[in-house]
Amino acid sequence: MILKNCRFILTQNSSRDILEGADIKIEENKIVKIGKNLRAERGEEKLDCSRVLVMPGLINCHCHVAMTQMRGVADDVNLQEFLNKTFELDAKMKREHVHAGAIIGIIEMIKSGTTAFQDLYYFEDAVAEAARKIGMRGVLAWAVLDKEFTTQQGVPLENAKKFAKSIKNDPLLRPALGLQGVYVCSERTYMDAKEFCEHEGLTMHTHLSENGVEVSEHVKKTGMRPAEWLEKIGFLSWRLSAAHCVHLADAEISMVARRGVSVVHCPSSNLKLSSGIMNWNGLKAAGVNISLGTDGCASNNNLDMFEEMHIAALLHKLQGPSVARAQEVLDAATINGARAIGINAGSIEVGKLADLITIDLNDTRWTPLIKSMLISHIVYSINSSSVRDSIINGKLVMQNRKIDGEEKMLRAAEQLMLRR
Ligand SMILES: [Zn+2]
Repeated sequence: MILKNCRFILTQNSSRDILEGADIKIEENKIVKIGKNLRAERGEEKLDCSRVLVMPGLINCHCHVAMTQMRGVADDVNLQEFLNKTFELDAKMKREHVHAGAIIGIIEMIKSGTTAFQDLYYFEDAVAEAARKIGMRGVLAWAVLDKEFTTQQGVPLENAKKFAKSIKNDPLLRPALGLQGVYVCSERTYMDAKEFCEHEGLTMHTHLSENGVEVSEHVKKTGMRPAEWLEKIGFLSWRLSAAHCVHLADAEISMVARRGVSVVHCPSSNLKLSSGIMNWNGLKAAGVNISLGTDGCASNNNLDMFEEMHIAALLHKLQGPSVARAQEVLDAATINGARAIGINAGSIEVGKLADLITIDLNDTRWTPLIKSMLISHIVYSINSSSVRDSIINGKLVMQNRKIDGEEKMLRAAEQLMLRR
């Protein structure tokens, strides 16, 4: 496939180059050439990009995609009430509900510019089926927690291991282990999961220090704050991406930085559940890789990463006008996200996976259309309704905002919405 005459290419390469009038050549699932006047082979698929901006697809690093099933069920409550309500509904979720929720969520993500996501849930085999059907890239972390807290059949860690072993050399999907959090996972659970991931070469995901109650309860139980405790038991690692990290003490930020843990910032969810504000500048100064995620639809209530970038950039202005600049926030949603979940994407460079989106420039929100303002417009002005096409793993998954078979898939999924 060849993307011809791109009005702008926002590369997100190491020098953050923005190209004008160039082409992008894709072979199989990789970007193989970027330059002017590239020749298309006979019969090669051509996409006219003269009126669009081409950029790396956004990477949603923390999501519970099947929770589209729970959109709107727990608004205007704190995290504890939220968890009580969602756990109650979790108990009713069968495999087919997870699949239906995932179909809706994945379509929603592609329409809003996301080309890869990291999911944390159970029945990840059903999420995998939905992702393959639509052509979405995913790192799927089966939820691991102690048996006494779960609604899963069997032992969660064993379920997670079985799922992880079932995905081998998949072009779109990679398994991971998803530790729910210190409030439901023992030291043994954390360390058994880590040992398995090291042995199998997998990444790990967890919720960490999301709100003040989680921290104070853990201090009561162990005498240590959550990240401090995870460091002490030996769990922190470069394999780990940790969602939220709202309540990290300075010493904990240093621990997270030293171990190479990536943080997944979820500003909408943190605001909605009144959890607090992540210390963007503190993490940045320590050199922590900051990525971005939407969290699930019960605490957001959508999966729109353009909206998430906008909220992130505005939220941190409470700390100062230059905190979380547009370029930094875009990095979090692209190149940093790729690093956090371990995929070779997040920028438009030769050799990278062809996970790209095109954005329609025909909108007053792009005015004035000046190269030096493009990133500002992406973060502060436009919204995801301008996303036109989506290419994932070298395949045109959405063209002119149409995904193949979407009406049929959505109709079937809507029949399987959970009854309340
Ligand atoms: Zn979450």
